[in-house]
Amino acid sequence: MPVTVRRHAVELAGRDVPVVEITGSADGPKLTVIAGVHGCEYTSMAGVRKWAGTLGSGDLRGSVLAVPVLNLAAFEARSPFVIPADGKNLNRCFPGDPAGSVTERLAAAAFAKLIVGADAVIDAHCGDLPEALEPFAIYDAGPVEDQALGLALAYGLPYVIRQEPGPDRAVAGTTSTAAAQAGIPAIVAEAGGCGIVEADKVEMHVRGLNGVLAHLGMVPPGAAQAAAPPEPTRLNRFIWLRSEHDGWWEPTVAVGESVAAGQLIGTVTSLDGAVVRERVHAPAAGVPMFITSSPATQAGGLLLGLGA
Ligand SMILES: [Zn+2]
Repeated sequence: MPVTVRRHAVELAGRDVPVVEITGSADGPKLTVIAGVHGCEYTSMAGVRKWAGTLGSGDLRGSVLAVPVLNLAAFEARSPFVIPADGKNLNRCFPGDPAGSVTERLAAAAFAKLIVGADAVIDAHCGDLPEALEPFAIYDAGPVEDQALGLALAYGLPYVIRQEPGPDRAVAGTTSTAAAQAGIPAIVAEAGGCGIVEADKVEMHVRGLNGVLAHLGMVPPGAAQAAAPPEPTRLNRFIWLRSEHDGWWEPTVAVGESVAAGQLIGTVTSLDGAVVRERVHAPAAGVPMFITSSPATQAGGLLLGLGA
């Protein structure tokens, strides 16, 4: 039986979403790979598009369902974070609500048709339109966390964050959280940002996805990856900092840089530059995983995500 590649569309909440379905030459795991949960995360979309295009030519065991751009409404509108029609963030809505608003319906359909039934799920992201980002993978605590950690390590990004339920938790309702709750190992893998297609980060996603194929035994040993990725830095807390005031945000640190507890990490000033409205200090020692690259901030606006 040869490897077959089928390009078609899956109907999700009233939209035909293009998918690439690759069926291997022998039975094996079912892997779902999604990009474009957020509409302007082009590097991760480019990575999944490129990687999916390579899968027809080699040997494959099991099957892959690849979705290069899931959130068509946000992609078409070039809308970061949310679908404009209801203002909701798709990656806070999983497992979704089939009777809810458009974003909740899309989450429900994507969860039912793409995630349920998979043996492993990779949700590829990057920083959104106004976000610089240090590459990392995130997985959720729970009964299948060892398998999820295996996926995260196989992806080979420099940082791996374990997310636990509780008051420290930065986000809920993500693909990986909902999958974990359904007993499906999943990760969110982030590389790239700022609304551009970064070639070296595209390759990080391609290498990461090949690493996952090798980890799951879906390709012959040695076919996908020359060497094991270096051991990542493991982090257990993800602290998201928000501004108290509106104004002009200017970070004083860069993504991937070590910061000390209490260190000044940025300021929010008045638009005329005359008044410092806020000095933002690191609440703990850590590494900025993402930083809002846009100076425009509002009260309550997200500034920075600190891995600690
Ligand atoms: Zn994202």
